[in-house]
Order: sequence, then structure tokens, then C-alpha cells
Amino acid sequence: MAQHAHAKKLNYRNIILAGIIVVLIIVLVVLIVSSLGKKTPEPAPTVPDASSVADGSSVYGSEVSSEEISSSEESSEESSSSAPSSSESSSSKPESSSSSGGTTTPTGNYAAMPETPYNYDTTGKTVRNAFDANGEIDLLFPINSTYYITRNFKAAKLETVDGDYKMDYRAAPHCRDMLAAMRSELNSKIRAFSTYRSYSYQEGNFQRKVNKLMNKGYSKTDAYNTAATIVAIPGTSEHQLGLAIDVYIDSLYNKYGELNEHFEETDEYKWLQEHAWEYGFILSYPKDKIKDTGIIYEPWHYRYVGVENAKTIRDSGMLLVQWLESQNIVYVYNGN
Ligand SMILES: [Zn+2]
Repeated sequence: MAQHAHAKKLNYRNIILAGIIVVLIIVLVVLIVSSLGKKTPEPAPTVPDASSVADGSSVYGSEVSSEEISSSEESSEESSSSAPSSSESSSSKPESSSSSGGTTTPTGNYAAMPETPYNYDTTGKTVRNAFDANGEIDLLFPINSTYYITRNFKAAKLETVDGDYKMDYRAAPHCRDMLAAMRSELNSKIRAFSTYRSYSYQEGNFQRKVNKLMNKGYSKTDAYNTAATIVAIPGTSEHQLGLAIDVYIDSLYNKYGELNEHFEETDEYKWLQEHAWEYGFILSYPKDKIKDTGIIYEPWHYRYVGVENAKTIRDSGMLLVQWLESQNIVYVYNGN
């Protein structure tokens, strides 16, 4: 009898032991699988940076210190969620990622761009059409919160510039040359990090940033206003035109996260300061113009305007939109 009880006890013990082992194995498998998933921090792709909201400050009332905005924490966070499969982001159909297409437009205090073309006062101005005779966007169209584009905007034909990253075919060859020159002259590993983005992709980027800030405790209003200084409001990004590129270096990515101000310490940045204009590119969001652009300092973001224009604008020390104002030029936009 006593023996029997003892055997029974052993039996229970074995069952419990087996149970523990099974649980341990499951935990182990889960750990292995999840670590495999994270293994490659996929230097990535899309970056929700702030393309173009020049004049933004007047539109988005409450300003936040740029230090807070540009903290590396903020920007590195962005990469994980908004960067699906690297190549996807720059392709012409990037919305296949987590963005939920046209359904994300927030309401409330969101400074969303209207769904209709803007109406700019052209009295006494030199008027240019946003689109040329071929229906292609003018290379100097100063997209921002004043000169926004609508949902049905179509970029000119896109061409590959680096990997799967694509740009307007008029900018693409110059961009390829610029990257190639940097690589050979500096022995650089510079690469495209974000190029063309569709309207709905930009919407997804923006909404994710708003959500993230709200999760951090920002009120809805503050989240929208702050997001607008970091991620361009849909319809206001140079990336949507197919004329802008963010460049970056994977070693920096590994150190600071995505698109960090530390890029300005690199030889690549110094080279771009000196030579980008020779390839028709200008720096869109300089450090000393944050108040004018309403956008954080982005040493990695370059806009194609054509070689002649790039030289003129660079020499003027002005932003594209300021230079146009100085020339008394306004653009009319009738959609396309
Ligand atoms: Zn950019």
C-alpha cells in the first residue's frame, strides 16, 4: 500500500516535471523565433521625415522645441514601425505596408490639406503653372503647406536611383551620378534611404507619428502639431513629388537610429554642402531656417531643382520658396 502510494507520488512528480520541461521548451522556441525575427535591424527604408512644410510655423500654432523633436529616440523609433520591407517604401506602391490607405485622415485639430487645389492670390505676380505642357510637375514647384498637392497628384515617370528607390526621371540620372561620385571620392557607403512616396503612404507615415506621440501622452492637438514638424502633412512632402531624396549611411543607422542629425558630422554631408548643387540638388531644411520651414533640421534631405536653379538658389542663401517670393513668382495648381 505504502509502496503503491509512493509510486503514485512519483508518477505525479514525473507529470509535473514533464509539464515544466514542455513549458520550458515552448518558451525557448518562442525566444528563438522572436530573436530570429529581430535579428536584422533592417537599415531601413522609409523615413518619415519632414519633407516640406515651409511656412509651417504659421499653420501649426503650438511649436515644440526642435531638440525634443529631433531626439534620436524619436527618429529611431520611427524606423521600426514605418519601415516595412525596405524596398517597398520607395516603390510606387508603398502603401502595401502597414499604412491603411486613404482611410487614415484624422479629424479634429489636424491641419489636413483640403482635397481641392489651393487658391493663391496671383494679383501682380508672375504666375507659373504647377504642371508643364506634358503634365509633369514643374521642377521649382515649392510644395509646402501653402502649395500643397491633392490626392490625385501623379508624379512624372519614376526611375530607379539606388536599389529599389525611385525618383522622377528628370532627377534620377543626376541623383545616381551624385551618389556614385560620393561613393568613389569618399569611399562612401552612402545610400538612398527614402525617395518617392505616394499620397497614401505619406498619410500612413503621418498617422503613425501622431499615434506614437499620443501614446506618449501628447494631447491630440499637440500630437498633430508636433507630428507636422517631423513628418510632412500628406500633400506637402517633396517626397511625394518624386523630387526629393533622403540619404544615409548604415553605420550611422546602427549607432544613432534612422536619420539623425549626426549625419552633419560626416564627410558625406560636407561633400553634399559643397557639391549637391552641381547635380541639381539643394538642402531643403537647413539648420538656420527651422523657423521658416517649420520643419526640423534635416541634413540628409535634398530636393532636385535642376543644376542652374540649384546654383542660383544656393547662392541666394534662401529657401526655394523664399527665392520664388523674392522673384515675385507664384504657382497655380489645378491638379493633374
Ligand atoms: Zn526627406
